Amino acid sequence: MSCLIPGEVLDQVISFHGHSCPGLSIGVRAAELAIQKLGEPADIDMVAVVETDMCGVDAIQFLTGCTLGKGNLIHRDYGKMAFCFYDRISGNGFRALLKPNMREINRAAMTRLMKRQAEGVITEGEAETLKRLRNEIQDAYYAMPLDEMFIVSEWSMPPRKAVILESLQCECCGEYSMESRTRRFSGKVLCIPCFMKVEQKM
Ligand SMILES: [Zn+2]
Ligand SMILES: [Zn+2]
Repeated sequence: MSCLIPGEVLDQVISFHGHSCPGLSIGVRAAELAIQKLGEPADIDMVAVVETDMCGVDAIQFLTGCTLGKGNLIHRDYGKMAFCFYDRISGNGFRALLKPNMREINRAAMTRLMKRQAEGVITEGEAETLKRLRNEIQDAYYAMPLDEMFIVSEWSMPPRKAVILESLQCECCGEYSMESRTRRFSGKVLCIPCFMKVEQKM
């Protein structure tokens, strides 16, 4: 079935993100899948674990209410078009990976045109073609049944109690950071930037 999110809600997602793009439509469909499989975010304690920081994450934030600041949106910097959702109370959830063949739609032609755009040599006609190709992908994503778009697998997270962490003062710059993000070097507690300055391997 094609996208069931009402048009006016999609307009709000687009204005939240700043533009309409294929990446955003992937996020819309992933959020739609999350709501379909787990229920309305307001009724459960939904957490999203996103394996990309691209456009689609904005749709997920807007439609599920999972945000970075609330701690129920977790970014894993894997650069994959994959999104996990689970209910913090039961721990049950799933992972949705964009099917590899979805990445191939119009890919060769678009890669060529995007290269020309990056080099600043794209013609007006080519820019129009690029726009059309992007729109085609976006429309395809919105029109497609969710099970044709994503590979869905079981994914769960054992319930964890919230832990209150201390802040430690960096012995180099004096700024405080959360204890789980501090480093130790030559007997001193350091923040990550100060550690990176002294650590030999980097
Ligand atoms: Zn975008
Ligand atoms: Zn420091």
